[in-house]
Amino acid sequence: MKAGKCANCDGEKVYEITEALLTHHKYANAFLPLTLTAYYGPTGEAGFFGDKLDRVTVRVSAFVCGGCGYSELYAKDLDRLAKMAVKGEGNVRPVKAR
Ligand SMILES: [Zn+2]
Repeated sequence: MKAGKCANCDGEKVYEITEALLTHHKYANAFLPLTLTAYYGPTGEAGFFGDKLDRVTVRVSAFVCGGCGYSELYAKDLDRLAKMAVKGEGNVRPVKAR
């Protein structure tokens, strides 16, 4: 899909969505990033009282076929995802190859 060809129908009309978004439930003109997972915890940044705490998320981009609608999602924050998997945060776990 990233090369401009659909993995499902071989169509060549492919769109890239660089940041997948959701509409905000409360504010009509606001949008929220679509995330694969999230947790509240240390961000890895230093705060005034130690580790800074905040919502830690993994955002996604997408490729969509204009012919059949087939879509692929790609995680944007792979380093963050790897850290989450090590600590078991955000329901992330590593999967070993069989
Ligand atoms: Zn397609």
